[in-house]
Amino acid sequence: MKVVKFGGSSLATGAQFEKVIKIVNDDFERKVIVTSAPGKRFSGDTKVTDLLIKYANTVIENEDYTNIVKEIISRYHEISDHFDLDNSVIKILHEKLINLAKTNFSDEEHLMAAFKAHGEFLNAILLTHVLNSQGIKAVLIDPKQAGLIVHGEPNDADISKETYLNLDNLKLPKDSKVVFPGFFGYSKHGSIYTFSRGGSDITGAILSRGLHADLYENFTDVDAIYVANNHIVKHPQAIKKMSYREMRELSYAGFSVFQDEAIIPAVKGQVPVNVKNTNNPSAEGTLIVPEQFLFNPANQITGIACSKRFSALYLHRYLLNKEVGFTLKLLKIFYKYNISYEHMPSGIDDLTVIFDRTKLDKVTIDHLCHDVKEVLQPDYLEWIDDYAIIMVVGEGIAHNVDTIGKIIDSLTENNIAIHMINQGASRISIMIGTQESDADEAVKQIYKTFFN
Ligand code: ASP
Repeated sequence: MKVVKFGGSSLATGAQFEKVIKIVNDDFERKVIVTSAPGKRFSGDTKVTDLLIKYANTVIENEDYTNIVKEIISRYHEISDHFDLDNSVIKILHEKLINLAKTNFSDEEHLMAAFKAHGEFLNAILLTHVLNSQGIKAVLIDPKQAGLIVHGEPNDADISKETYLNLDNLKLPKDSKVVFPGFFGYSKHGSIYTFSRGGSDITGAILSRGLHADLYENFTDVDAIYVANNHIVKHPQAIKKMSYREMRELSYAGFSVFQDEAIIPAVKGQVPVNVKNTNNPSAEGTLIVPEQFLFNPANQITGIACSKRFSALYLHRYLLNKEVGFTLKLLKIFYKYNISYEHMPSGIDDLTVIFDRTKLDKVTIDHLCHDVKEVLQPDYLEWIDDYAIIMVVGEGIAHNVDTIGKIIDSLTENNIAIHMINQGASRISIMIGTQESDADEAVKQIYKTFFN
């Protein structure tokens, strides 16, 4: 049995729905279909989730919401018209949409979550009707019926363990497909909570694990995951197969097909994930599998990711290696300002701490540097704002002794200074720190070395 998730662009128009119907109908094993809200129809268009956020804010501000409701419903109307559905379907959706504004929520966070979730919920209702109208038997199962229980923040929920017990007991109908709205679950108290943005992927992964699927197919609008970003490398090769942990390392450093951590439930359930293209479903896509399925990686390296969202704190102090408690004092300062760090490569007298810049503001950085100077009295301190990390990833790295050498050669031959190099303990990734302005060229050169 397969769980199949369709992204927002795959469910944005009637024409896209037709492709989805064909994909679903082509394979009997495609049993559970997870929906996103209608996404962008063209560049510059607005996703329905963003329209719903606007609707929620209009209600919070006590303003007139007639127009925004019209705009949202027109998105579903367009699709239902494409299939000549009875007007009663749009009526049902419209009523649900209007009821949101009339419901009392405990606070604005809960209100926002419930509004946002309706993008996928209404699309799931619509898809169920469309499938049935095309002679494909389908039923809707929603997160409440399935017992998809979550906890945490209303707009950034985590899955609760009991969900998997509930899913174990869920009986799927034998003779019809199941349509399941993505992106949200219910709290213990019965409130709607959504996952973080892009979270329909998470629902697909949860169902794959909980329903013991053989495969989780994630349909999006790209043919595959590529070895490198195609804005940096022209026509990069597609990755046919990769391991979960390769995916994790690459998405950490900037691969953006999945939201980081979205497929963890599938990983825990050891369900392979196939990223495929709704607009070109015959393309193989990229298969993401447990490590043990990858005995012989096809290439020495699998992917090269690059992220420019980092900053670094460089510290130099003579005889640092002999000093007891230096790092402890440093960590205490981080703790005081509630800062987590990403990496801490060190030398004999030097230490660099690398941070995710998006989590820091200018005031915190100033406080941090001030305290470090005062408490640790380094001989030299520098805050480096233009720091990029390039991640070269591959299960094949552990099988080849020359990977680091080849990377270093490709960079030094092209005059690219390496600020830091670190081979992970897992031996499947090599992390390289460079100046931000060198990062793209570094990716190009590494790609050329291993793939041309
Ligand atoms: N519709 C939601 C969003 O735009 C969730 C998703 O598309 O996966 O973030």
